[in-house]
Amino acid sequence: MRFNPKARLDTGRVGDSGSGGGGMRGGGMRIPIPGGTRAGGGIGGLVIIVLFFVISSCLGGGGGTLPSPDSGIDTSQSGSDSSRMQDSERYANCKTGEDANTDEDCARVAVENSIVDFWAEQLPAQGGPSFTPAKMITFSGGVDTGCGQATSQVGPFYCPVDQQIYLDTTFFADVLEGQLGGQGGDFVEPYVLAHEYGHHIQNLLGTMGKVRTQKGPESDAVRLELQADCYAGMWAKAASDGDNFLVGLDQGDIDEALDSAKTVGDDRIQQKSGQGVNPDGWTHGSSEQRMRWFSAGFNEGTLVACDTFSASQL
Ligand SMILES: [Zn+2]
Repeated sequence: MRFNPKARLDTGRVGDSGSGGGGMRGGGMRIPIPGGTRAGGGIGGLVIIVLFFVISSCLGGGGGTLPSPDSGIDTSQSGSDSSRMQDSERYANCKTGEDANTDEDCARVAVENSIVDFWAEQLPAQGGPSFTPAKMITFSGGVDTGCGQATSQVGPFYCPVDQQIYLDTTFFADVLEGQLGGQGGDFVEPYVLAHEYGHHIQNLLGTMGKVRTQKGPESDAVRLELQADCYAGMWAKAASDGDNFLVGLDQGDIDEALDSAKTVGDDRIQQKSGQGVNPDGWTHGSSEQRMRWFSAGFNEGTLVACDTFSASQL
């Protein structure tokens, strides 16, 4: 992955909430641990794994066990403002693509810029509503969000209430590569960001309201997640063709995205946790499905090709 050194970066939608965070300020609602009881089986890291998966699907789900816009959470304290985007110096020096080539924080900004450019053009061009960008917040420790308080253990997620993507950047090394044994690489994080951005697109399209069933191989939750993978593939294809920001994306990068999709498959997570594979517990889809839907977005490049809700076979 290489960035156009002359590209000018826009840090306006990317912020860092600093470390620590959390607490129960402003009536923030503590996010329950839906997988807590199931995670009681032993492996310490399992809680983290389960949380990552449950939170992102349920946050997109409307209903389920996590607070969502439809489930009575008090959203008045969150608003849609950007006040929780506390200014920090973390991204202050990210000016150009050259900075992105030498600094992974700046690379995150460049990837965000690329994703925003892609959807700003493609969403209306493919019959969707006009595009409004999400914000992206990095944090460490804990963070208060429009969807409640979250800690690093939840992994990256999108909150539809405040339309922000939250990310503790230690997740990639600690969980994805460490606990789950992914191969890693510099295109892992862009894949995850593009997936979370896919949830924002679903929010803009109203797709999240379609989610009724939260678990199981044919569930709406799985359809929502596979669609986010497909949307990530759409962006990855455009990025690999070259845009204003990315000039060097090769098959090795795409392979890293595919490996990440494989790494976070529900069947693989279940295997890693020693529970045995049980599709009834799936919320995101199997490794094979996640790779295949990413590829569908990559190869077809259309929202229609990513219509997992109409697909007879997932
Ligand atoms: Zn997701």
